[in-house]
Amino acid sequence: MDHGVRQEIARSIQEQIRDLRLEIVSMEEQSRTVDLDQPIGRLSRMDSLTSQGIALSTLNKAKVRLTRLKIALQRVEDHEFGFCENCGEEIAFKRLRALPESTLCIHCAA
Ligand SMILES: [Zn+2]
Repeated sequence: MDHGVRQEIARSIQEQIRDLRLEIVSMEEQSRTVDLDQPIGRLSRMDSLTSQGIALSTLNKAKVRLTRLKIALQRVEDHEFGFCENCGEEIAFKRLRALPESTLCIHCAA
């Protein structure tokens, strides 16, 4: 993997980190708003707990992905970056650009 490719992936990671941070901030704001403005009676308690649970799990997934992206950004210049942890093959550029946190090639991830 040459330097230009790594730089392009690094840029893509930085963009995704920025977008994800904005998403997390807006999700956190939304979950607070829901808590404060929750109309009593329209949603059953069960429904509101379920939707809150879904919102929280989406938020947690976003945070986990953010952490993985930060690790990927630190590793992008490493020699092993971009190679599958399982089979050692190079991970396709398109896959790395879309999902820079991948540590498995598309075949091993499937
Ligand atoms: Zn593989």
